[in-house]
Amino acid sequence: MKGESLYQHQWFDGSQVDLPTGKVVCVGRNYAEHAQELNNPVPTEPLLFMKPASSIVSLEQPVVVKADFGSVHYETEIAVLIGKKLAGAPEGEVAAGISGVGIALDLTLRELQSTLKEKGHPWEKAKGFDGSCPLSAFVPAECIVDWQDVPVQLHINGKLRQSGNSSQMLNGILPLIAYISTFFTLEPGDVVITGTPAGVGQLEPGMQLKAALPGLLDVSTEIV
Ligand code: ZN
Repeated sequence: MKGESLYQHQWFDGSQVDLPTGKVVCVGRNYAEHAQELNNPVPTEPLLFMKPASSIVSLEQPVVVKADFGSVHYETEIAVLIGKKLAGAPEGEVAAGISGVGIALDLTLRELQSTLKEKGHPWEKAKGFDGSCPLSAFVPAECIVDWQDVPVQLHINGKLRQSGNSSQMLNGILPLIAYISTFFTLEPGDVVITGTPAGVGQLEPGMQLKAALPGLLDVSTEIV
């Protein structure tokens, strides 16, 4: 059942994706340089967390940042739209289960996250709050020639702030999704966001953002 206010996945041409809106499964510290910039150890296996479907908003709309819970940081990530159920999927079967690729901002309440981490508490409040997952429209998965060579970039006010490529990931997109599916069944309409390259920082109202998968997709938005 589709709720009226529920976010609906879109294709890049403006048509609706014929899939429900599901959960977002996320990986932390999937680029060594980003782990280092936050003084975090590089994990030995994927560090997983989730955002609920209610965290998703359109990246094409202005991104609302509230100061109620401290600073909000951006993390620009390659987002993968799941098209077929994946449960305990071997790596070789993952690509056939992917429907599209897009861009997500993994918004993070950084101070709150630090407090929760210090106390050994779960991160959900800092990572899964309403609006914490601005998500672009998707291009079809067939546009990807090599999942190990997908670039992602973020410009803020015309300046390049983040630039990465899936080739730099500690866990590549396909093995990562296979690993995730051994813990969490991925359903059609779920999204996997694949970690952020270095260059994260705080969002402020008035910033103009341009997020891109160069050669595939770019989205401009502003922070309000
Ligand atoms: Zn992230």
